[in-house]
Amino acid sequence: MSAAVTDTGGADLAAALEHANLPSLVPVLVQLTGDRRWLADPYRPTRSRGMDNNDAGGFSDDVAAEIRAAVLDAVVAHEAGAPVAIPAPTRELLLELLSLATGEPAPPEYADMLAEDLGFAPEPAPTATAGTDIDAVIVGAGVSGMLAAIKLREAGIDHVVLEKNDEVGGGWWENTYPGAGVDTPSHLYSYSFAPRDWSTHFGKRDEVEQYLRDVADDHDLRRVIRFGTEVTGAAYDEDTATWTVRTADGNDVTARVLISATGALNRPKTPAIPGLDTFTGRLFHTAEWPEDLDLRGRRVAVVGAGASAMQVVPAIAGTPARLTVFQRSPQWIAPNDVYFEAFPDAVHHLMNRVPFYRQWYRARLAWNFNDRVHPSLQVDPEWEHGNRSVNAVNDAHRRVFTRYLEAELEGRPDLVAKSLPDYPPFGKRMLLDNGWFRALRRDDVELVAEGVAEVTPTGLRGDSGTKVDADVIIMATGFHTHRYLWPIEVRGRNGVRLADVWGAEDAHAHLGITVPGFPNLFITCGPGTVLGHGGSYITIAECQVRYIVDLLTTMARRDLKAVEVRDDVEQDYTRRHDEAHARMLWTHPGMTNWYRNAEGRVVSTLPWRIVDYWRMTHDADLDEYAVEKR
Ligand code: NAP
Repeated sequence: MSAAVTDTGGADLAAALEHANLPSLVPVLVQLTGDRRWLADPYRPTRSRGMDNNDAGGFSDDVAAEIRAAVLDAVVAHEAGAPVAIPAPTRELLLELLSLATGEPAPPEYADMLAEDLGFAPEPAPTATAGTDIDAVIVGAGVSGMLAAIKLREAGIDHVVLEKNDEVGGGWWENTYPGAGVDTPSHLYSYSFAPRDWSTHFGKRDEVEQYLRDVADDHDLRRVIRFGTEVTGAAYDEDTATWTVRTADGNDVTARVLISATGALNRPKTPAIPGLDTFTGRLFHTAEWPEDLDLRGRRVAVVGAGASAMQVVPAIAGTPARLTVFQRSPQWIAPNDVYFEAFPDAVHHLMNRVPFYRQWYRARLAWNFNDRVHPSLQVDPEWEHGNRSVNAVNDAHRRVFTRYLEAELEGRPDLVAKSLPDYPPFGKRMLLDNGWFRALRRDDVELVAEGVAEVTPTGLRGDSGTKVDADVIIMATGFHTHRYLWPIEVRGRNGVRLADVWGAEDAHAHLGITVPGFPNLFITCGPGTVLGHGGSYITIAECQVRYIVDLLTTMARRDLKAVEVRDDVEQDYTRRHDEAHARMLWTHPGMTNWYRNAEGRVVSTLPWRIVDYWRMTHDADLDEYAVEKR
């Protein structure tokens, strides 16, 4: 029975509206009523400050009450049979509504992406012609591989998914360390077609993993997934225009198309610190957290201060007798007002009952988290303070994050000195504060601002000589981020190895997806497509999979057996990619980050705004490919 039927008179709805995000409600009102007065003052909310959720929208109590009452009336009337005034806004109105919800002018290029993401412009899914011989092997059943399987099925393309683990979820299945979770809001870190009533604003690992399992169930994905199947190699046969994929269990698979969905953060990296093998206690990587671990009463050392450490340190602090963090470089850390907050049932009620509320809630999040910060990551050549920031806005970010850090560490000048980065904000991946500073303030936690020079049988020695005894060492030292598809040996035309084309850590691909010499190979989460400026990787995966499906259905329609991106097209894309990065913050001196390689070329992150990448990948252009007919 629907909430509407049991809620006579709308009392439940009225109560739920008290928990509404008001900026997301005003566009709802416009759509439900068609009344343009809601687009003007006093119903225009303020813009979010930083990543603030801005639930109150800056409205006076009277205006807030008026908005809630109008929504109540409109929804009750709608449930009684009144039609929605504007079920699918025009692009022009969509921009007005987005500007309304965010309190900021939305540029026109966002309209199409918004319409599609919110389901206001559902495109007919491309389908392959019946009887096509195009089939695909997808490697990996994480976020991208599951998505590829769902979309290939919709397109009528046969496929099998090979997954090395025993479950779906990829990184979310593997990373079980305490505190693991997303730092993109969950309503954005969801497939656009599979919303969920998330229990918290920022989903913790178990719920994200459950979400992915649920999506697998809802789409009956398990029947196409071969679990426990590790792919070791793949070779392209030019005569048949097929890929043969080698697996560790010896059950090789041959298909026309190979789709890599192995992610960028799935091979844990433990640096070769001298003496690692001599340690007599327990030593492991965060991504390989032991199930039987008991830290109570132990002396624990964490190596690293990145996103994984940010989550694990506050989560375990207080359990060990002593916790020491080795921080080679400090990171910039931002606050978020709802980071720890659960959603009350009232919010789920609104999401499921108020037409368009879920969409506008997501649209606001996308606006705040996707591209908003991108312009401030461009280096201003005139800027005089290049050692601390790259432009005036970046400098303002620095001040905000510095104030936050100093407030959190008030009375601890020792910790302030160790924690304040000297490079520009966003230069390394930004972190959201998961209670890091509070953990550092504890008496049983020590921050050693040194790298690790040596591991001894009984502990660690820092670069500046600090010796720490430990029973357990946790390596929060990140992943092999530049070695895409590694350690799978991929051989294209003439037996050429992809690893040789790219070298150890210099991967490049057209749109991050296709590589000359490797026909019918498509890469998701490939080079230059990780988000360093914000947003949800799932949005990028949706762009990539849509592009791949578009190419595959075009192949089917035109009876092609192979498509291979032209050399000049890939080179031009990579040149533009590198030029864009040369103007951006991540090439700036003064800090290391996992985005760029030892030569200083940014290999991992997307230099464009998400909306630009959405546009670039929206329709595959066959002219960019050499094709082979059947
Ligand atoms: P990371 O960001 O690469 O951090 C690795 C840490 O280990 C850094 O502090 C690094 O120091 C340190 N380190 C590396 N080698 C070292 C050595 N030889 N001696 C001492 N310290 C050493 O790795 P991560 O924290 O696992 O995060 C990787 C990425 O995964 C993140 O950036 C994010 O994209 C993703 N992730 C996301 C979440 C989330 O959504 N909340 C959580 C976890 C991970 P330097 O900085 O000096 O190199």
